Amino acid sequence: MHEVSLMQEAVRLALESAQAAGAQHIHRLALRVGALSGAVPDALRFAFPLVCAGTIAQGATLDIESVPAAGWCGYCQAEYRCEDYLSECPRCRQISAELRRGTELELAAVEVS
Ligand SMILES: [Zn+2]
Repeated sequence: MHEVSLMQEAVRLALESAQAAGAQHIHRLALRVGALSGAVPDALRFAFPLVCAGTIAQGATLDIESVPAAGWCGYCQAEYRCEDYLSECPRCRQISAELRRGTELELAAVEVS
């Protein structure tokens, strides 16, 4: 499952920043997951406790913020909601391959003490 390695990477980054801050525990992790990131939020939630076991993040809560995909139309100079990499501008009907949001998979916040 590809989400396990994504989660391992996110938790590794969180552990690094906790260590840099001299923290003893990680209480909460927040991830921003784009609609087109290829990661399934439920699978990330499933992987989270497995990846955290035995680390200072054990027992931490995971928040997932879903980011809808947004395309960019160069003609209208405007952003719009889209569902795929290639999308049609709802105003001028031009096809655009430019995404502004939706592919991110990033650590948004880490709460430590
Ligand atoms: Zn347009």
